[in-house]
Amino acid sequence: MDRALDRPLITVVEDNEDNCVLLHALLDARYELDVYNDGLGALEGLGRRLPKLVLLDVSLPGMDGIEVLGRIKGSPHTRNLPVIALTAHAMTGDRERILAKGFDDYISKPILDEQLLYLAIERLLQRGTGGGAP
Ligand code: MN
Repeated sequence: MDRALDRPLITVVEDNEDNCVLLHALLDARYELDVYNDGLGALEGLGRRLPKLVLLDVSLPGMDGIEVLGRIKGSPHTRNLPVIALTAHAMTGDRERILAKGFDDYISKPILDEQLLYLAIERLLQRGTGGGAP
């Protein structure tokens, strides 16, 4: 069996090269990654190939992650995609502020505990986008 066929596709939107390298290291064995360094490129990519989930840096050059999220949730093609925010802002209350924007979950950078990342991803993948799960 070809393991590559079994790996769920995740779109990563992250402009920091070190974080991209880290995410590849943590995720490549479990997921197929489409990585984009800016929001417009990511939105174009989502139009071509729909992933199971998006990891979205909030702080991006040009169009920021909040606007990218708005476009994802505003399009019938992508509105049901789970989106996890990646943000360096780890201030008290920030989680609630980010989730209030419409993100499905939140991972703070630097990623110090990869198990939290895996749990967040798997929770949302198992929730699915087509309904039917209890
Ligand atoms: Mn960034």
